[in-house]
Amino acid sequence: MKFRNFKMVDYVVYGRGSFDQLDEILAPRRKGDAPVIFFVDHYFEGKALVNRIPLRGKDKVIFVDVTYEPKTSYVDKLAAELKSEFGTVSGIIAIGGGSAMDLGKAVSLMMTNPGSSADYQGWDLVKLPGVYKAGIPTLSGTGAEVSRTTVLTGPTRKLGMNSDFTPFDQIVLDPALTANAPVNQRFYTGMDCYIHCIESLEGTYLNEFSKSYGEKALELCQYIFLEKDQWDEECDDKLMMASYAGGMSIAYSQVGVAHAVSYGLSFLLGTKHGIGNCIVMNHLEEYYPAGVEEFKRMVEKNKIDIPVGICKGLTDEQFDSMINVSLGMKPLWENALGKDWEKIMTREKLRALYERL
Ligand code: NAD
Ligand code: ZN
Repeated sequence: MKFRNFKMVDYVVYGRGSFDQLDEILAPRRKGDAPVIFFVDHYFEGKALVNRIPLRGKDKVIFVDVTYEPKTSYVDKLAAELKSEFGTVSGIIAIGGGSAMDLGKAVSLMMTNPGSSADYQGWDLVKLPGVYKAGIPTLSGTGAEVSRTTVLTGPTRKLGMNSDFTPFDQIVLDPALTANAPVNQRFYTGMDCYIHCIESLEGTYLNEFSKSYGEKALELCQYIFLEKDQWDEECDDKLMMASYAGGMSIAYSQVGVAHAVSYGLSFLLGTKHGIGNCIVMNHLEEYYPAGVEEFKRMVEKNKIDIPVGICKGLTDEQFDSMINVSLGMKPLWENALGKDWEKIMTREKLRALYERL
């Protein structure tokens, strides 16, 4: 048996107000007059947070458009623009939700690796370290702050650049930055974390490392989304740690059915990750009976609407395209259903599931 030897984030700072330590964190990373580039989620344009970014010299703030989840074409464009404007940069600091963080990771890698980011969608295809990169989440749940992937939609697939060069060099976990997240969005992204826990804890790849993190993250989600009556700072603090622990849990295992199916929705219909996972989880009693029952209680308690009927009227060709994307996620299915997953999750069975969504 060969055990995975996985790369983790190098430095972590956690605490309310820790964002204001960014200047001293970046100081030793500055290379001559090469600028630090701040990718800031476009939600923050004109907001007070921008004035707290420690700009020096030729540093630049780029408000990244996260209307759509990151595409390889957008990553390539951002990297090409930075190369032509500055040649090289000291680092990329990504401030935002999973989308902005993934853009930061991917562009960092594309500053040094040749070709298109689409060439590196898959496992361990990235050859060179990127430029220094730091992640600062403003939404909690995806675990993108700790993962070894950056999820991109390319010309033919939605798949991450999974590699040892992908994790951030530094993360700054400041729960105060998540305070203004809209209730629905906060829930959908929070449920991404909850679903990571269920898929990891119920998966065949589970080991004690994953389990320890998964159980802690699950306990935090249960407290936040079922026990608390009112959202407060404690919830922001705890959800940020749940996201971290949930991400650590899947780092050593995998996600499962909800993610595999939701990737198909996202590829064809552009359904976003958090809400897409919720739409699928709503129908997964067969695979995660206890998790789905608890998920439904969380939806009800937090008064959230989960869309239904989103696959109505799709053509055979469209169903096929979603099924192809989904079945392409082999490690997810193997984690969920075991080595013989292909006998269990047939195209017909998956089609029937998509039709129910
Ligand atoms: P998101 O980053 O797509 O953001 C959702 C919305 O919230 C956007 O409109 C954004 O502008 C807004 N927003 C962000 N922070 C805010 C704040 N503090 N206040 C108000 N609005 C705010 O959402 P997400 O759920 O965090 O991320 C989803 C993305 O993460 C997807 O692209 C998905 O593929 C990716 N993802 C990556 C990993 C990974 O390991 N790399 C894991 C899971 C998901
Ligand atoms: Zn996820």
